[in-house]
Amino acid sequence: MTSLLPEGTLPRLVRRRDPKALPQLDHLLVLLPAGAARGAWQAVPGGDALAAAARRRKLTKAGAVFTLHLDSPCPVTVATLDPAAAAFARLSVARKAAAEIRSHRPAKVGVMTAGAPAAAAPGWLEAGIAALLAAEGEMPKFRRKAEPGHSRLSTITLLDEAPDLDLKRLRAEAEGNHLARWLAALPPNRLDAAGYRSLLEELAGREGWEMSFLGERELAELGAGAFLAVAQANPHRDAGIARLRYRPRGADPAAALALVGKGICFDTGGTNLKPFRAMLDMQEDMQGSSVALGTLLALTRVGFDQPVDCWLAITENRIGPAAYNSRDVVTALNGTTIEVIHTDAEGRMVLADTLALAAREQPALVIDYATLTGACVAALTHRYSGVFGNRPALLERAVAAGRDSGERVWSFPMDEDYDEALESRVADVQQCSLDNDGDHILAARFLQRFVPDELPWLHVDLAAGHHKGGLAHVPTAQTGFGVRLTLAMLLDHDLGAPESEA
Ligand SMILES: [Zn+2]
Repeated sequence: MTSLLPEGTLPRLVRRRDPKALPQLDHLLVLLPAGAARGAWQAVPGGDALAAAARRRKLTKAGAVFTLHLDSPCPVTVATLDPAAAAFARLSVARKAAAEIRSHRPAKVGVMTAGAPAAAAPGWLEAGIAALLAAEGEMPKFRRKAEPGHSRLSTITLLDEAPDLDLKRLRAEAEGNHLARWLAALPPNRLDAAGYRSLLEELAGREGWEMSFLGERELAELGAGAFLAVAQANPHRDAGIARLRYRPRGADPAAALALVGKGICFDTGGTNLKPFRAMLDMQEDMQGSSVALGTLLALTRVGFDQPVDCWLAITENRIGPAAYNSRDVVTALNGTTIEVIHTDAEGRMVLADTLALAAREQPALVIDYATLTGACVAALTHRYSGVFGNRPALLERAVAAGRDSGERVWSFPMDEDYDEALESRVADVQQCSLDNDGDHILAARFLQRFVPDELPWLHVDLAAGHHKGGLAHVPTAQTGFGVRLTLAMLLDHDLGAPESEA
């Protein structure tokens, strides 16, 4: 079987402060403050002519992106940024600049700032490089002939000093994000449960992860009735829960981070069938799993110093004579009985058992990702994702990491009285309520039953997993949202550290 993994590699990142590097470049990206004074342009090759042209064309406002080839040895794309702008805004400008540069098909691009305030420069460079890397992440194509004239960017040269800019992390993050997007864009007849499993085996072998797979028989023995209710309409018996283990040398194996992902390879809605438009892109309903997997890849590539377990709930949600029904009562792995209400609320069913399974290992922290509810999209649009959790400090750190990384999240309430909407006449809990009001909150309250209180837990409802035209630095509709956020949470905001408060 041919591999479903992305082909090729992302461009190399190199540092070169030497001005002699310039003639070897095919293209230069200059990040400049909006309304920059004449002096700022002097650092740019051919800067005087560029400055005059920019003024003439009134291209000095924040967010302007333009390319000129005047007195410089190669074409120069200038992007103007507001020094006070947040990460999301600078990444969005960088996305425009990267698309502009890509249209010139250069092999070697240099990146520099000119006249940038010292505090802003590293963030600008980071945004520029992140966007160039994201633009190079090819998406799956199944055409008989390769596209004509296609050329790839081979090298990105950082021309500023910027000693604190972590190029290894930037590349790892781009690789993780690309994997998450790539998988979400694969056709559902290629990335079905069996295809997904063999892809994971290949990737685990390549990355040195230990992999195990609990198939339907093993899950039945464990009593994972919530997961199996969703899987029972599948035409093949390939569904299951994959576990991937990353174990860095010398780390305490007992305190692993658990990343849990919803991997519905195609969601028809089940017996409560979705209408055509709502079903059209439902191969993307596995994005929670691809984000967990992309995060694991990025953490592996940065050499994260803590052990990580990745748990992926992989199945389809099908119609058919064997499909589960409204008012079915099933027993989850932790013994909770669930009254099914709507078969399209399958994500919380498969996550319930996967979270319970992950919790048995006493992880240091659990983070789950899922394209879970339309209500979260209704509340936030596709620009933000929702976060929920059982520790206030986790939510504060997640929101701060979202602001700093440009993958923005907003936290929602999780008060106990919301459970009134999930009271069942016959079972311990109802799967969801009859109407859609606050379904993102109710889904989180439902999932909370499968994570013991003593485990810190963060749930990410990926409303921003799909955004037409791209989002922040990412140019494709599948955004891979969550990989960059999680790296920021873990590496910059100490998400895994114990809380200081009582
Ligand atoms: Zn669904």
